[in-house]
Amino acid sequence: MPCSSLAEKKAGNTLAARLARLGLRTDADFVLHLPLRYEDETRITALADALPGVAAQFDVEVLDSEIAYRPRRQLLARVRDAGGALLLRFLNFYPSQQKVLQPGARLRIFGELHEGYLGPEIIHPRFHVVGADEPLPERLTPVYPTTAGLGQATLRRLIERALQRADLSDTLSPELREKLHLPEFSAAIHRLHTPPPDMAQAVLEARDHPAWRRVQFDELLAQQLSLRRAYTARRARGAPRLKASTKLTKALLASLPFRLTQAQQRAWQEIAADLGQPHPMQRLLQGDVGSGKTVVAALAMLQAVEAGHQAALMAPTEILAEQHYRKLAAWLEPLGLPVAWLTGSLKKREKEAAIAKVGAGETAIIVGTHALIEDKVEFARLGLAIVDEQHRFGVRQRLALKEKGLFAHQLAMSATPIPRTLAMSYYADLDVSVLDELPPGRSPVTTKLVAEARRDQVVGRVHEACRAGRQAYWVCPLIEESETLQLKTAEETFARLSADLPDLKVGLVHGRLKAAEKAAVMAAFVANEIHVLVATTVIEVGVDVPNASLMVIEHAERFGLAQLHQLRGRVGRGAAPELQGACILLYAKPLGELARARLKIVFESTDGFEIAREDLRLRGPGEFIGARQSGLPLLRYADLEDEALVEQARAVAEAMLRDEPQRAEAHLQRWLGGREELLKA
Ligand code: ADP
Ligand code: MG
Repeated sequence: MPCSSLAEKKAGNTLAARLARLGLRTDADFVLHLPLRYEDETRITALADALPGVAAQFDVEVLDSEIAYRPRRQLLARVRDAGGALLLRFLNFYPSQQKVLQPGARLRIFGELHEGYLGPEIIHPRFHVVGADEPLPERLTPVYPTTAGLGQATLRRLIERALQRADLSDTLSPELREKLHLPEFSAAIHRLHTPPPDMAQAVLEARDHPAWRRVQFDELLAQQLSLRRAYTARRARGAPRLKASTKLTKALLASLPFRLTQAQQRAWQEIAADLGQPHPMQRLLQGDVGSGKTVVAALAMLQAVEAGHQAALMAPTEILAEQHYRKLAAWLEPLGLPVAWLTGSLKKREKEAAIAKVGAGETAIIVGTHALIEDKVEFARLGLAIVDEQHRFGVRQRLALKEKGLFAHQLAMSATPIPRTLAMSYYADLDVSVLDELPPGRSPVTTKLVAEARRDQVVGRVHEACRAGRQAYWVCPLIEESETLQLKTAEETFARLSADLPDLKVGLVHGRLKAAEKAAVMAAFVANEIHVLVATTVIEVGVDVPNASLMVIEHAERFGLAQLHQLRGRVGRGAAPELQGACILLYAKPLGELARARLKIVFESTDGFEIAREDLRLRGPGEFIGARQSGLPLLRYADLEDEALVEQARAVAEAMLRDEPQRAEAHLQRWLGGREELLKA
């Protein structure tokens, strides 16, 4: 349908569409669209005083202009002022521009001067013809973030209009402003849009001015208010009260070959208390790889079951789901509780049978992949929904789960530690339990950095370990751009290692294998029939093979920090000293600066929190948040590293919702307009 696509194209090019791309709809949106930087057009600089590389404004007279053809067609104009001369060079130009540049014309130009072949010149200066006493603006000129086809002049005009029309009344009381040393909103906003020339441009551009601080605080406050409101709204919903378990959890604990760590006990108590509440739990169980989240999940499931409800556990990959299934079945079936298994790869009949049982309430415990949240699946009385590695699910899947489990308690599990400021901001609507302790007898994985040139030695080390009865993972280089290429590399790595290690059994597992094939390979690895498992990042989360104590990561420089940490967590899971984990990071030279920084951090630290903090510092919060919920707007002005300000915003949000709900409402309206719904997705 070429017609409609043409129409769409047109619609996509209207002013409104361009503004929408920048998120500009309401007056408040325009008011809060703040400059990236400023240009000083309040002064005229004499050409003699101009500094190369510094943008400045000059009043000049045209001496002559011509179109030159070498090296390519361009318009050149020679201009001068009382004390100097300058060449203006236009590589693209309109005939109208050429017409204006007549000898004797007086111009006001703005641009950055540099030393050209023919002396000082400015390429593509902004210019206009001026009369004798053209006045200068009294304020710095804002330069706004914009999008293709939307000029600064248009944006400035629209923002100016919005500034006149919008309600700029303060949402913070004078007492609060004083206490926090923050300027008034309206004053701050005007300052930032049109600063007086005596304000140091550098300070403004570094966003290091009380006016910026006010905006940053307001932005954080809006975030806190909206997260708290989402939290309150959830607590207003009903959920089944799941009474504390007296039998099943005790029976499980008694049957385990280990005792819970203190951290596990604490987390379990927090969860158990939540489950007993008449509103849905929304808790994140966070613990480094190997910290033992599964058993805590199992205990929670048992409480739900004993209270007469169903509990479901969903994992993002088939392998991971199956691991959970095996483990839970091994723990719970001896207690007389069958565990149902539901994934996309089941035969149609098996799947239908499983769905029917779930719907009839015959099975109380269900483990699976996102097949669990397909339309056809209806739970008879879901009381608890657990999601492992929630961030690996898509937005649509998370929404579907939310709908299925709207009135159920929810527990998310994650091995990605959330740095404190993120926890206080983007995650402020969740309660968090942390497993900050590994089960006893684990020693930290030792990490080695080895250059690719010494690959042979690494292969030798793998050989030695496997001959001594251990097993190894060999993680293939990550090729983000292409799954096909990724697969090809994995197959090549597999072939090469098989040739290098003829007396060992080498296996291969990657994302393109059918579920049953994957399961077969994993089962062989668990049974030590495969010694070296070549894998793509499918093993990134959750796989648990204690005898695999060595991991090699090829082209480690291509992996993200969190990924490396998670991968490394796959080894060193056995208690015996000979099972102490080792991770070899093979890297290829030359290393980029960022890659070097990442490798240095994983090499030096095994502390998931520290690594996450560094990750946040290196990458910014985008990926953490992207992982959490795509509807959440990123902070535009505030910096999460500013922990003190985040704290203040949090405290103020709480008090404001309690004592001054109208102010809170006005504040949210200003910052989020109608967009707040997105936050809840
Ligand atoms: P993760 O938090 O990475 O999901 P798991 O739940 O898979 O960790 O646990 C890792 C391993 O540690 C499993 O084999 C599990 O049975 C074992 N485990 C869990 N808790 C304890 C404990 N308190 N003491 C000893 N081993 C434990
Ligand atoms: Mg796990």
